[in-house]
Amino acid sequence: AVEVRGAVKAFGAHTVLDGIDLTVEPGTVTVIVGPSGSGKSTLLRAINHLEKLDQGCVSVNGELIGVREQGDRLKELPERAILAQRRRIGFVFQNFNLFPHLTAVENVAEAPVATGAATRTEALERARSLLAAVGLADKEGAYPRHLSGGQQQRVAIARALAQHPEVILFDEPTSALDPELVGEVLSVIKDLAGTGTTLIIVTHEIAFAREVADEVVFLDGGRIVERGAPSQVLDRPRHTRTREFLSKVL
Ligand code: ATP
Ligand code: MG
Repeated sequence: AVEVRGAVKAFGAHTVLDGIDLTVEPGTVTVIVGPSGSGKSTLLRAINHLEKLDQGCVSVNGELIGVREQGDRLKELPERAILAQRRRIGFVFQNFNLFPHLTAVENVAEAPVATGAATRTEALERARSLLAAVGLADKEGAYPRHLSGGQQQRVAIARALAQHPEVILFDEPTSALDPELVGEVLSVIKDLAGTGTTLIIVTHEIAFAREVADEVVFLDGGRIVERGAPSQVLDRPRHTRTREFLSKVL
């Protein structure tokens, strides 16, 4: 499970995460929705330890990733342990973030080779099968600039999978795409749901959330306002703020 306990994060005087408690069970899909600036990206970045919390902690399968407890001495894991844990978490960004100088198959194989998890031959072989799984068998030799946004994002998903992650975090994976390319990326993510990998997805695609989410979390002002089954949060929201937000994005 991914567990976030009492997460607080401020930038200067601006509290961006204001006491977040969130448990995501292994193999489930959690969709996070909320207005711009509500702290969605900061929460994902904290889970991946790209952002250090001021208070609270995050654990993945019981292993703490960086800890700061209020009143306690700062307890930080050694950088090496953080890197090892981060390897178990895939991250898919809004803007794909592929290496521009590497082909699709090299992008996917890069991390397992760099970390010593696989030989170059093994990593390339697995990269080819992952590209095939996301519908890009014919694009393995293409550089990112020769791929559409939807294709680049599918390479990015294959790259995340190459590390055998226990968790994949998606930060608005389709919001930089032309509308006609959104479906192909959502369909790849949909195929991952229920395969055992834990997925945490920030998205404004409400129909997609309704279809794949085990749980929907509505974040506003750095707090979880409401969470529950998609049918509850999306169709029968309890809070006015959730209703207002949904009326804008639907
Ligand atoms: P969006 O939907 O626009 O992506 P979000 O919910 O992902 O929004 P965050 O990116 O988590 O929001 O940002 C939350 C708040 O924290 C914003 O007001 C943002 O300006 C601020 N913020 C984020 N990162 C930093 C930073 N490194 N320094 C200062 N302020 C930051
Ligand atoms: Mg964001």
